[in-house]
Amino acid sequence: MAPVETEKSITLPRTHVVLVPLMGQGHTTPMADLACLIAGRGVRVSLVTTPVNAARLRGLADRARSAMLPLEIVELPFPPADDGLPRGSSDNSDNVLQLFLSLYRLAGPLEAYVRSLPWRPSCIISDSCNPWTVGVARSVGVPRLTFTGPSCFYSLCDFNVVKHGLLHSGNVVPGMPVRVELSKDTWAAAFLTCMPAWGKFVEEVREGIRTADGAVVNTFRGLEEQFVACYEAALGKPVWVLGPFFLNSRDEEARTIDQSTVIAWLDMMDQSTVVYVCFGSLAQMLPKQLYEIGHGLEDSGKPFLWVVKESETVLPEAKEWLEALEMRTAGHGLIVHGWAPQVAILSHRAVGGFMTHCGWNSLLESVAQGVPVMTWPHFGDQFLNERLAVDVLGVGVPVRPFDGEKAVDLVVRGHIARAVSELMGDGAVAEERRRKCKEYRERAHGAMAKGGSSHGNLTLLLRSFMRSGSKEQVNSVCSAR
Ligand code: UDP
Repeated sequence: MAPVETEKSITLPRTHVVLVPLMGQGHTTPMADLACLIAGRGVRVSLVTTPVNAARLRGLADRARSAMLPLEIVELPFPPADDGLPRGSSDNSDNVLQLFLSLYRLAGPLEAYVRSLPWRPSCIISDSCNPWTVGVARSVGVPRLTFTGPSCFYSLCDFNVVKHGLLHSGNVVPGMPVRVELSKDTWAAAFLTCMPAWGKFVEEVREGIRTADGAVVNTFRGLEEQFVACYEAALGKPVWVLGPFFLNSRDEEARTIDQSTVIAWLDMMDQSTVVYVCFGSLAQMLPKQLYEIGHGLEDSGKPFLWVVKESETVLPEAKEWLEALEMRTAGHGLIVHGWAPQVAILSHRAVGGFMTHCGWNSLLESVAQGVPVMTWPHFGDQFLNERLAVDVLGVGVPVRPFDGEKAVDLVVRGHIARAVSELMGDGAVAEERRRKCKEYRERAHGAMAKGGSSHGNLTLLLRSFMRSGSKEQVNSVCSAR
């Protein structure tokens, strides 16, 4: 890649991609990785976001600057809520729907930003949960690709369920190349009909996917080949499979984090012995659920590294209980309070299994690092990501067996200890799971390497921007409409 300065004095590449991530770690992180990937090919990338989120992305901006990538973070002013839409702020992750809706107020500032550019951007790639970008892209005459955060498997299930009018009742997902059967509760949780307040928003998201010029997905062909092909056929649009995005960007970063307490602790552990437990950025555990996880891990007798959110230990009794657990398990248990360097942890030789909520990023990071999973979904697509991991890929053990129970019932310590022993055990089934994981790891790295499928797809995507040309001045395009 030819280094390109982002300073005004240097000419920026004409091909220009505007990325619009959704706030929230699980959505912004893969978009930031995608920004690095695209900019790494010498193409100008503007990642637009709120001032609060931009502050969180300072590390990315610094890395881009030192690598001389043509990547800029653009802060959009976040207008006050004076338009009748629900109020929210960009750092309020407690009420997810309110946050998503509050972002509709960015439509005006995004349009103003695009119109202020001397040249029309080649493309807008926006998170599918930002359906307000549909009107902006149309208004400024710029092609729009939708970044669908979940697996292709989930997106295909969702597409087929809607197409066959089965959103509100069903138990077998139609039109799938494999059998996908869910209990009534899990169906409602997976396709979000258990949350009527989300109905209109989710419909707008689906419409935004249907009307986009194509989809970008953070997965790789060697993992989801048949679902990618079916999804592309179903949408009737290109599905650009470009992942795993984090390899080549955060993977490299992970290799350099060797001084942290967590990595120093892992360094003392034997190969593939540690159970890593983390439930992403949004899922919240109640104290009684924390106790069950803690007891289950202790009962399993395996070394564990468990990430507990600050917000989960606001009750003094929960904090005290965890401190007592830490004392009892000192030497073979480590509790991280807050945020852990997940990619670095998953790539450490000591980690042999991951208990995850099946957020797509977490699942992909695990499989791409060759680590089998214990699955415990909480919300939406996570239920189908679990099925993909357990039934299709054969790399996971469900923490609670699929037995028609309520989707989000209490998990008890026996479930945890059993899942750990099943996943980390020595039997032929556990060995086969590990073998498959290693194979997916090889395929993931192969996909991102020069000559690999995702690497090649990104080349084709960028070439398609160059072919479509972006030499027209945006203001004249807009005023002609
Ligand atoms: N993550 C992390 N450290 C943590 C918790 C999460 O680095 O302590 C990262 C994780 O690597 C993943 C993202 O946050 O990239 C979580 O995304 P995911 O889709 O798994 O779940 P969500 O947070 O959206 O529920």
